[in-house]
Amino acid sequence: MASPKQDELDAVKSSILKNKVTPELANQATQLVFGDGNPDAEIVFIGEAPGKNEDKEGLPFVGAAGKFLNEMLAMINLKRSDVYITNIVKYRPPNNRDPLPEEKQEFLPYLEEQLEVIQPKIVITLGRHSLNCFLPDLQISQCHGKPMKYKGRVYLPLFHPAAALYNGGMRQTLIDDFNLIPLILKKINLINTKS
Ligand code: URA
Repeated sequence: MASPKQDELDAVKSSILKNKVTPELANQATQLVFGDGNPDAEIVFIGEAPGKNEDKEGLPFVGAAGKFLNEMLAMINLKRSDVYITNIVKYRPPNNRDPLPEEKQEFLPYLEEQLEVIQPKIVITLGRHSLNCFLPDLQISQCHGKPMKYKGRVYLPLFHPAAALYNGGMRQTLIDDFNLIPLILKKINLINTKS
């Protein structure tokens, strides 16, 4: 049986289709890539936009970057089914171009609704597009790996796995930052128990 949160997420997905969000992207994409994972997750990962593989399969992070993300999750004893994964923009931009500011803006209310339903303990932004949707003044090179509280939500900015995949230094930094997740989550849970 679907959980109440899954039903609410399904309703958000339906509203994206009904409201014809970014019709130009929708026309060129195979399908909407809404999100994947556990609606009761403590951790939500937010990427940029679907690529070719994601567009084909209808799931986020299933290509090379997704494989790397899965490996890093395994490193901290988590599976995809323990977390929730989505993107800001939910249709593949043509030729994998960067999502436009207005496309990100159009999808933001739906991303906010997803987070309102899931109520994660921590939102992990992957790459600068995702970071700057929530925290527009921060630079990923300065703030990666540093958890921060903003408007009642805890964010952890990380480099994007696709950017880090073939860049030795960035790859190791992302792995090091990823390894901080269990301790950060433990601290959040400790603070929540006390308050
Ligand atoms: N990159 C992203 O930002 N999202 C995906 O779903 C895949 C690759």
